[in-house]
Amino acid sequence: MKYDYLIVGAGLYGAVFAHEAKKKGKKCLIVEKRNHIAGNIYCEEIHGIRVHKYGAHIFHTSQKNIWDYVNQFAEFNNYVNSPVARYKDELYNLPFNMNTFSKMWGITTPQEAKDIIAGQIADLHIGEPENLEEQALSLVGRDVYEKLIKGYTEKQWGRDCRDLPAFIIKRLPLRFVYDNNYFNDRYQGIPMGGYTKLVEKMLEGIEVRLNVDYLANRQELETAADKIIYTGMIDQFYGYKLGVLEYRSVRFETEELAVENYQGNAVVNYTDREVPYTRIIEHKHFEFGQQPVTVISREYSSEWKKGEEPYYPVNNDRNNSLYERYRELAAGEKRVIFGGRLGGYQYYDMDKVIMAALEMCRKELP
Ligand code: UDP
Repeated sequence: MKYDYLIVGAGLYGAVFAHEAKKKGKKCLIVEKRNHIAGNIYCEEIHGIRVHKYGAHIFHTSQKNIWDYVNQFAEFNNYVNSPVARYKDELYNLPFNMNTFSKMWGITTPQEAKDIIAGQIADLHIGEPENLEEQALSLVGRDVYEKLIKGYTEKQWGRDCRDLPAFIIKRLPLRFVYDNNYFNDRYQGIPMGGYTKLVEKMLEGIEVRLNVDYLANRQELETAADKIIYTGMIDQFYGYKLGVLEYRSVRFETEELAVENYQGNAVVNYTDREVPYTRIIEHKHFEFGQQPVTVISREYSSEWKKGEEPYYPVNNDRNNSLYERYRELAAGEKRVIFGGRLGGYQYYDMDKVIMAALEMCRKELP
């Protein structure tokens, strides 16, 4: 055996593990089925604009140690995510805050906003919210739910809001101050030079083989190392033998435009059902780009099918209990450790991926 660890997938989880393992003197090999590193945070440069090829990523965390950790590999800019929501021809600020409420109801004070929301939910008699719809209604009332949440969520997840877990909407801050920062976290920004470069830095001195599909070369690769860190889909690893976990996939229609500034913001969400895409990303604004041209991506959400790219695990009861059964299988593995969004079937943000990888390193690389 030549390597201590074979790492399947060159995304953030695999890269953090590889970096830490190398520091401890371990020999790692990463195999990646795509033709590039960095998983879904990979960016592709077009006209000097870094295009988030697999969807927009904004780094944010409340953990100082995680912020310090990523800052070893890149300096971060001072981008603050402040998406705009477009419902038909009406524009609203996100997350749900006094700017949103003021536009929605023509009011000015927090008390007025709270009174309107309380009035809208009084007759709904929602106890402990049991699904996303109840959670959203009990937080922001019917108007905001109907205009800014229902259509967007049902497009993104392809499911009725009553069939989705409440935690998804809890990702969004709700505040009664005039503050459009989408995240509550202490630290936020985009790595200067881009995410691909950040991951490249993590992987310095580590052998990476691109265009290698582990599952298609399993017999040969299985014996290449003592242990395997697997960051692909856990159900696929097991040949779907307990059943298929559901994911949402995303398709991007990317366009180069001969205008300097198309929409005036990095992220515009289209929250009504009639527009088929969920959002338009104008990539240059993540880095305050001054190029004379621009690149935009329209984002379309669909149910994942075998052979497509999985993006979001659908963490409803059915899938979570199926995942539990895969996790039990995984717990019995002596040589394989699963991690990342796909290996752990979790709707992880980047900071949570890094936290999970470092936590695993503490156990695995004492
Ligand atoms: N969401 C919404 N309206 C919006 C933006 C978000 O209702 O304009 C809800 C929706 O349920 C979505 C969740 O918030 O699934 C998380 O959205 P976000 O854009 O933060 O997720 P991402 O795709 O960026 O991980």
